Amino acid sequence: MDYLPLFFKLTDAPCLVVGGGEVALRKVDTLRRAGASVTVISPALCPALTELAEGGHIHWVAGEFAAYVSELPGFRLVISATDRADVNQAVYRAAVALNLPVNVVDCPELCTFIFPAIIDRSPVVAAVSSGGVSPVLARLLRGRIEALIPPGFGELARLAERYRSQVKAALTDPSRRRRFWESALQGTPAELVLSGRSGEAEAVLERDLAAAVSGSSAAAGMVYLVGAGPGDPDLLTVRALRLIQEADVVVYDRLVSPEVMALVRKDAERIYAGKQRSEHTLPQDQINRLLADLAKSGRRVVRLKGGDPFIFGRGGEEIETLMAEGIVFQVVPGITAASGCAAYAGIPLTHRDYAQSCTFVTGHLKDGTVIDLDWRRLAVPQQTIVIYMGLQGLEAICDSLQAHGCAPDLPAALIQQGTTRHQVVVTGTLASLPGKVAERNIKAPTLVIIGQVVRLHERLAWFHTDGA
Ligand code: SAH
Repeated sequence: MDYLPLFFKLTDAPCLVVGGGEVALRKVDTLRRAGASVTVISPALCPALTELAEGGHIHWVAGEFAAYVSELPGFRLVISATDRADVNQAVYRAAVALNLPVNVVDCPELCTFIFPAIIDRSPVVAAVSSGGVSPVLARLLRGRIEALIPPGFGELARLAERYRSQVKAALTDPSRRRRFWESALQGTPAELVLSGRSGEAEAVLERDLAAAVSGSSAAAGMVYLVGAGPGDPDLLTVRALRLIQEADVVVYDRLVSPEVMALVRKDAERIYAGKQRSEHTLPQDQINRLLADLAKSGRRVVRLKGGDPFIFGRGGEEIETLMAEGIVFQVVPGITAASGCAAYAGIPLTHRDYAQSCTFVTGHLKDGTVIDLDWRRLAVPQQTIVIYMGLQGLEAICDSLQAHGCAPDLPAALIQQGTTRHQVVVTGTLASLPGKVAERNIKAPTLVIIGQVVRLHERLAWFHTDGA
């Protein structure tokens, strides 16, 4: 270790920044975030620093550093952010002579301390340093850590702070106390805080504490109804990824891609809930029951569904049971097939010239016919129609639209396994698409897009696969 990472308490401490430009401003901001009382020495200030000085947020000494060297002993920490090597050198020498910590920006050899890249979830703070070797690398790493530490993490620490002494008094055995906190800070109370529901988190934490004291039952479980997106695992939300990796049990559908399932924790239980067309592996009411029972046994359950759980995903039905049984749950949206396929096929769903609205419909067949759709409304021009589950009924759909006034040459596209490396886009018209699709060996899932926007595919297609 070339540098020892420490967290420096600077509340109200007098700190000096020499220099008045943008670089100085960044350092002033960092120091102010730590509560320091900042003095800036510089003949001139950039507009933002001028504003801070005028607002009384910093103290500005207008002049050259050389004239104020004698003031240095009054400061706890010194930063030099000027573009003049002689001034930077002078600040460094003067500070070192007084044993004051000093940092000359972008000049590691003139630093007795360096700034890390900071991930601020106060009171939780993570700092990354490359030892001054590559600040860019440190910042890239910070980006990754930012994604790992959810924004509500500070609030979570506050919750722990609020209950610290109460838990200490209630659970006197240190190892039981540690287990309690480990479970609370990774379990339902934590997830509630992270989704902005601190009040409910407190209620659950108190219930879990009472249970831990009496040694009676397990901590409360929770169900996360999570959208897994259209297939490409990179299209998961940050929250979906975190929940998938923390889950004890994952109940998943056929539409969830193997690449997404590969992200599930190795020791988590996986339960396949099926949903093959006409071959439901588990009937819906049994899935609803299963989710409730798993949560009641104290487990963290992720119900993983293709796309978005609230778009043709029966997500509503599943949470109704949970709601009725008082089980805590959370819904995490995902990228729905329409958004994913449209983006990856280069077909904008709306366009100023071609479509001012977009309608998602199901083309699911019931007894051989497409379930009732308002064909007249769908046949109105200047809109895009997206059909989920429309492969079997494709011909009937195209015929009905024409029967209700759509031109036979209205552009239409079918996208097979959108966003994955098996993506295939077949384009045609209402008249030609069913025939073109029938000629190909198309595999589910497929999505149909109908409307003038399909014309744009030819120009905007950017995602190319071998269509295996
Ligand atoms: N909740 C899902 C939809 C479930 S219905 C969502 O929001 O996307 C299942 C239908 O979604 C499939 O029949 C198909 O029409 C569509 N679908 C899902 N993923 C798809 C994909 N990667 N490519 C094409 N269509 C897809």
